[in-house]
Amino acid sequence: MRILLLVFLTLSILQASIVKKASWPQGESFLYFLEHHGMPQSLYWNLDKEDKELCEEIQAGVTYYMMTDDTGTTIEQVLIPINEELQIHLKRDGDTYRFEMIPIAYKKVTDTFAIPIEHSPYQDIIKATNNGLLAYAFVDAFKNSFDFTRLRKGDMLAIIYTEKLRLGRPFGIPKIEAALIERNRRPTYLFRFNDRYYDEKGREIEGFLFRKPVNHVRITSRFTLRRWHPILKRYRAHLGVDFGGRTGTPIYAAADGRIIFAGRLGGYGNVIKIRHREGFMTLYAHMHKFRRGMKRGKYVKKGQVIGYIGSTGMSTGPHLHFGLYKNGRPLNPLGVIKVTKKSLRGKERRAFLDYVKLMKKRLQEAVKVRATPIRLDDLSRSNFCINEKERVEG
Ligand SMILES: [Zn+2]
Repeated sequence: MRILLLVFLTLSILQASIVKKASWPQGESFLYFLEHHGMPQSLYWNLDKEDKELCEEIQAGVTYYMMTDDTGTTIEQVLIPINEELQIHLKRDGDTYRFEMIPIAYKKVTDTFAIPIEHSPYQDIIKATNNGLLAYAFVDAFKNSFDFTRLRKGDMLAIIYTEKLRLGRPFGIPKIEAALIERNRRPTYLFRFNDRYYDEKGREIEGFLFRKPVNHVRITSRFTLRRWHPILKRYRAHLGVDFGGRTGTPIYAAADGRIIFAGRLGGYGNVIKIRHREGFMTLYAHMHKFRRGMKRGKYVKKGQVIGYIGSTGMSTGPHLHFGLYKNGRPLNPLGVIKVTKKSLRGKERRAFLDYVKLMKKRLQEAVKVRATPIRLDDLSRSNFCINEKERVEG
């Protein structure tokens, strides 16, 4: 365990430096960013394979911070998030800069509330909380198991959710931990457990049917948002799953969709990106070559061959790096490429049922007292603190 001090803003007070907040431009690469800001490109070229891959993961539109000296000319530090857990930290060291991956300091807040239905869950949640992403997360979680059109005025909904705050501001998508819809006094529950949603009996409610992008291959590296590497003594992330296989092994589209990118992408080598329904996107990297005709704009069917396993980009051997994203955020593909829904069994089921009892009680209590939600605007104000500290496992 060590304490990591994110001294970014504190420093700015002591040294009278300037902190700028900006949005990562569409189509900007990390390499271009360095060049554009007069930082040495060797910073990128000296990175190892994993860090180079992560540099391709910076999402357009993400908020990053840059701190300069008081004249605004010398860049002292830069913080660029690559997902909800990790960020690139560039720190000036004499004439050059140090590159490191550090955890994003955040606080988690949990809130429980209940509101009566007036118009629709989506509109009512926004009205009560001013939190559009929360409304979106709620509707998304229930959409395959509940027909919202059957709700009537006066029906109730209750939500327990967590929100991450970074420097006092919400970031990422709020997570629904448990929720209840009461229609005609009859409850329908939903619980998040080990990152999947279940009904109160432990049956999984969501089942996104993506197929495996390759046959008969082994997994050589799994998905992780943040991991402390004990030997390298640094943070790593792997935002996809690696499937080892021979060069030339066919790669299949994981679902129907439109190719939005087919070309070279730095450390990822030859890449195809496919956009699917519901804000999903899949990424296939290190490809040996694309199948004929696979180019931007082309519509592909689930299971159609799009290319072949290779070792292009930063890669130590032939494999497919397969990434899955929802609204630009990386998800663990192994959670959704299963063909059947998962039912909880044995010990896991018993743990789930205990958890359900607890959460149900909280939801019912919220309905009874009509617990009012924290509004997003208040959340930001009350939790704003300038020198945020974070404990980091390591
Ligand atoms: Zn990979």
